[in-house]
Amino acid sequence: MSGVATGNAAPVTVTVIGAGPTGLTAAVELARRGATVRIFEKRDGPSGLSRAVGITPGSLSLLAPCGAGPAIGAEAIRFSGMTMHNGAEPVLSIPLNFDDRSSLHALPQNRTEEHLIEALRRYGVEVEYFRCLSNLHIRADHVEANFGDHIKVESRFLIGADGVHSRVRATLGIHFEGRDLPGHWSIADVISASWPHPDRFSGYLLPHGHVAVVVPMAPQRYRVISSQREALAALPVTLVADKVIRESEFVIQVRQAESYGKGPVFLAGDAAHAHSPVGGRGMNLGIADACDLAERIMQGTQDGYEAARRPEGQHAIQVSERARRMMQSTGAAKAAFLAAVAVIDHTPAAQRAVVHQLLAG
Ligand SMILES: Cc1cc2nc3c(=O)[nH]c(=O)nc-3n(C[C@H](O)[C@H](O)[C@H](O)COP(=O)(O)OP(=O)(O)OC[C@H]3O[C@@H](n4cnc5c(N)ncnc54)[C@H](O)[C@@H]3O)c2cc1C
Repeated sequence: MSGVATGNAAPVTVTVIGAGPTGLTAAVELARRGATVRIFEKRDGPSGLSRAVGITPGSLSLLAPCGAGPAIGAEAIRFSGMTMHNGAEPVLSIPLNFDDRSSLHALPQNRTEEHLIEALRRYGVEVEYFRCLSNLHIRADHVEANFGDHIKVESRFLIGADGVHSRVRATLGIHFEGRDLPGHWSIADVISASWPHPDRFSGYLLPHGHVAVVVPMAPQRYRVISSQREALAALPVTLVADKVIRESEFVIQVRQAESYGKGPVFLAGDAAHAHSPVGGRGMNLGIADACDLAERIMQGTQDGYEAARRPEGQHAIQVSERARRMMQSTGAAKAAFLAAVAVIDHTPAAQRAVVHQLLAG
């Protein structure tokens, strides 16, 4: 690979492993700044799955220069607000459109990825599918990535954006510190013409510390998530599903890589951190990692990446875990949470502070 030169005149060539939102963003931002990039994905084509839905204002502005931000904003649903319920009873209603920092957009993750792939194509780069990284070696002046026995790619830097089960992280021997939360959460993506909140996030606090949420993803399409095993059955209100597109279960990992890379190899996105979907920060954090890393690589300041991004990851994990624990509280802790919620419900300044904290980054 050849590429533009950094301060010390070496060509900037980068191999990106993984074409999820993090890897795609890294590739787009590097290509936009003149690097020579190759991006490899083990799947045989673009993903049809949508995990992340919520896109923060920070992500939209980070993705504005490459054109993906405006395209995502134009297609996505803009949330008008969120309503929290205790059982079926509304206890907190917060607007999500009172200023630019409070605007949350919703779009299925595969559509966000499509916009990033289109942006990448504008810089002349195509995702190389059906290429599974098997091993890598850090040499004196380059990184060697191996895809099976016969394909070897050399570049100056390598970015592991290969998700929670990162092969890059394992190959470097970097520990993914943390734990899996007990129990299985469930997810159902449905079509419903009659759900009455097409642009509102609805959360439900259930008995025994369980929760359920309904999130609009696209017109008449909703994501239901619950800490119980059957998301739709867990809802304390009726959602008439005209069609169930997908149902699955997942275990929540709360983990962070003990370091964000080694020499010219870096970890970004879920390869570096994982937490619950409460707060919807995962994909957005990965996009921010990728933008920071791309800029640093092009400026020759990549050694500062870990110091800049690991604390951000730690903070996002803490915020998400605090919110999850509050939502899953029981007994006296739940009573205290509901009392705080009642105050916030009547205090616009507190509502703004909650929203700004949840959507920061
Ligand atoms: C139910 C659920 C809801 C969520 N909701 C939200 C939300 O609303 N907002 C939000 O911000 N986040 C949300 N998230 C989290 C979000 O989906 C992830 O944080 C995000 O997908 C991480 O992106 P990534 O690119 O880092 O990793 P991934 O999306 O996992 O992409 C990694 C890619 O690497 C590829 N890969 C893996 N190994 C190799 C290899 N050896 N060689 C080549 N390729 C490889 C994989 O095939 C994959 O395509 C949610 C997650 C879940 C489970």
